[in-house]
Amino acid sequence: MDFDIVIIGGGVIGLSIAAEISNGNYNILLIERHTSFGNETSSRNSEVIHAGIYYPTNSLKAKLCVQGNKSIYDWCEKFNVPHKRIGKYIIAVNKEEAEELENIYQRAKNNGVENIRHASVSELKKEEPNVKVYSALFSPDTGIIDSHSLMQSFELKALEKDCNFAWKHTVVGINRNAKGYDIKILAPDGEMLTITTNVLINAAGLDSDLIAEMAGIDIDGHRYRLHYCRGHYFRIKSIKKNLVNHLIYPVPQKNVSGLGIHVTVELNGELKLGPDTQYLDERIQDYSVPEELQDKFFRAASSYLSGLDYNDIYPDQSGIRPKLQGKGDSFRDFVISEESDKDLPGLINLIGIESPGLTCCLEIAKMVKDMIEFV
Ligand SMILES: Cc1cc2nc3c(=O)[nH]c(=O)nc-3n(C[C@H](O)[C@H](O)[C@H](O)COP(=O)(O)OP(=O)(O)OC[C@H]3O[C@@H](n4cnc5c(N)ncnc54)[C@H](O)[C@@H]3O)c2cc1C
Repeated sequence: MDFDIVIIGGGVIGLSIAAEISNGNYNILLIERHTSFGNETSSRNSEVIHAGIYYPTNSLKAKLCVQGNKSIYDWCEKFNVPHKRIGKYIIAVNKEEAEELENIYQRAKNNGVENIRHASVSELKKEEPNVKVYSALFSPDTGIIDSHSLMQSFELKALEKDCNFAWKHTVVGINRNAKGYDIKILAPDGEMLTITTNVLINAAGLDSDLIAEMAGIDIDGHRYRLHYCRGHYFRIKSIKKNLVNHLIYPVPQKNVSGLGIHVTVELNGELKLGPDTQYLDERIQDYSVPEELQDKFFRAASSYLSGLDYNDIYPDQSGIRPKLQGKGDSFRDFVISEESDKDLPGLINLIGIESPGLTCCLEIAKMVKDMIEFV
């Protein structure tokens, strides 16, 4: 079968692209190896709508997040996706962290984060009496979202415009042909199929580097190889769910590739702690949450929260970040690249789409749409 555009990956990125580009004019197919959407990273995250505070100015992560924050709230309003603009406090607990907090504030301003402001200790005492604070910032536009409903809204929008979906199909080979690409697919009954497409969009999350390699890219030479970095969560018992009212983030530690173990409020009012960061030695999707991490989580949360007891927390889920940045390496941005310069015109790679990918999804989809029009 011939398609104009094939998207590999039914996570939030592949689906947002399908929703953005489906208009009835192109023959589009989205291929996903699981039975339905969002079975990997897109359903194993904090479900926070970020504001764009931390990322280096002018990076794609910063730009797409600042714009994505607005576009995702607009989308949620328009398509009735459950969400809440709950707001987030970033908390410094001593003088040293307070200095870092100022750097974070300046970076946020440089990134164009509009409403971030300093919050006084008296404000915190009133709003968050269980939070220990030396100084703080408040980001009113940070929020929470039901990511399943978001993905469902993308799927519906794409289906309305006749996008095709192949669930339980796995891409196992890619070859360049005169017009575009032949794609080898393993069907659920074990049959091997070959389809063709002019444009191929690689939104394969944790395996996006391997898809690029299948298409003929030297992923070490081009620094596309991914590292798996697991983030664990611990849940706070329901009885303590009134401990905080907003998202509460510590000041991130230097040289740690995460935002620090924070408190996330869910749409139903329950609280969870995390994620931490653990680079995995092996490239496997192991989502276990070791119980022995309880000490680390309790100590981290207790450094800025009072009223939490050791037995108030218990292991919850985990997610794996598809990181371009290896352990101890410096910042790496998203790769969103149309690969004509590698002699692979019409191949669009999305690699290293870790946090804030959920927040950025609509802006990433717009970028990809522009690239398709260029192709
Ligand atoms: C712990 C953690 C916390 C996070 N918190 C936040 C947050 O609060 N806010 C935020 O904005 N972002 C957050 N993120 C980032 C966000 O979750 C990701 O950026 C986003 O989900 C990535 O979506 P995706 O579609 O690229 O990947 P995925 O959801 O992994 O989707 C990729 C899909 O491709 C499919 N696939 C792969 N290979 C093949 C193949 N060969 N054939 C067919 N299908 C294939 C997979 O099955 C998968 O379904 C977090 C991430 C993690 C890990």
